[in-house]
Amino acid sequence: MIARVSLPPRLAAVVLLAAGLACLALTSCRRPEAVRASTENPAIPRPVPSTWVRPLIIDMHGHLDPSGAARLVRILTENGIDKVVNLSGGSYRHGPADWEAAKALADQFGGRVINFASPDWSMFGVRGWAEREAGRLQEAVDRYGFRGLKITKALGLGAVDQDDRLVAPDDPRLQPLWAKAAELGVPVSIHVADPRAFWLPTTPQNERWDELKVHPYWSYADRPEVLPWPELLQQAERLYRANPRTTFVAVHFGNAAEDLDYVDGLLDRNPNVVIDIAARVGEFGRHPAGKVRQFFLKRQDRVLFGTDMGVGGDFLMLGSNGAVEPGIEDVAPFFQAHFRYLESALRQIDHPSPIQGRWKVDAIGLPPQVLDKLYRGNALRLLDRDTLRKFAQSRPASAVVPGQLPAPAWTPAPLPLDTSPSH
Ligand SMILES: [Zn+2]
Repeated sequence: MIARVSLPPRLAAVVLLAAGLACLALTSCRRPEAVRASTENPAIPRPVPSTWVRPLIIDMHGHLDPSGAARLVRILTENGIDKVVNLSGGSYRHGPADWEAAKALADQFGGRVINFASPDWSMFGVRGWAEREAGRLQEAVDRYGFRGLKITKALGLGAVDQDDRLVAPDDPRLQPLWAKAAELGVPVSIHVADPRAFWLPTTPQNERWDELKVHPYWSYADRPEVLPWPELLQQAERLYRANPRTTFVAVHFGNAAEDLDYVDGLLDRNPNVVIDIAARVGEFGRHPAGKVRQFFLKRQDRVLFGTDMGVGGDFLMLGSNGAVEPGIEDVAPFFQAHFRYLESALRQIDHPSPIQGRWKVDAIGLPPQVLDKLYRGNALRLLDRDTLRKFAQSRPASAVVPGQLPAPAWTPAPLPLDTSPSH
């Protein structure tokens, strides 16, 4: 209508501006659906009713140092965190000191800190190493209250045997350790490989350049002894398959957030595997939001909330670190970024760890029953030793024949699967 009226150019501009402002006022005051269309993803249903209250969360992937206890109190309180799994409970390499300190931290927090122990790789390959470490894991659980085994990315990347050869994730010499975890009813959190981009040249064209230029030693581009990314993942999968009674948490979104279909298949093929989302929201968030949402609905019993938050007296890590260490004031926005991604339908938002890539992600708006499992329910089940022992007993003791995998032990959710449209 305005275009048909002949007005002097300046006046026309004023009229257009006024009309535009009036529209803005209308959309913000009277037509909330128009506002939604501009900021939210219409492919993602608005899932979280105002009556839903986020449960007290369990962060399944933390790195804590006893020196950070005072900061940790504040972090738990301010962010609605009930428990944190400390994957840095340490090994017995220097005797009991690390485990005693980790136990003291857990005692101080009344069970809200849950420690996982790690093996001491320094003597790997020496006769009796695995039996010794299996015995130590038993001691960590029985005497120090540890609730799991943490395997760092050393396998395939750093740990060597007595002949100075890298130890593969599926090295059969590790077998007694996995068997002991199953016997004790504790999970094995395992980090294998790293972001795929760490195998590419460290140049400004590398999508992980911001991280790699600060931590150049994270690159595998010039390390010919390190296997390619897909082969390391295959070794990890052989490990899972060979130990059907052991429950593995394949951290960092199955160690393969770049490939959603692979992770889906990994979970199909290995009923003894669950995953956490730690430090990979930015990576799996690059897939179409509808596809990621569908993954979380389908796998709602097998995904754990985790952040890769590190807390010490003089250090703080939020997923990953750049040249400048974050401050305590950055912790709440870090958790809020997770919540916003998982709970809202907002488009093009910051992911929790922008140092891992300068792109935006579209939120996936999960329904309340899925959020309840992700934030808390799945973790409680995983940390219950009786549940894991029952799980172990329901599986064959030895490796299964490919193609003859038994039915998943992590049974489908008792709640009806959300059938909202996916895109
Ligand atoms: Zn970690």
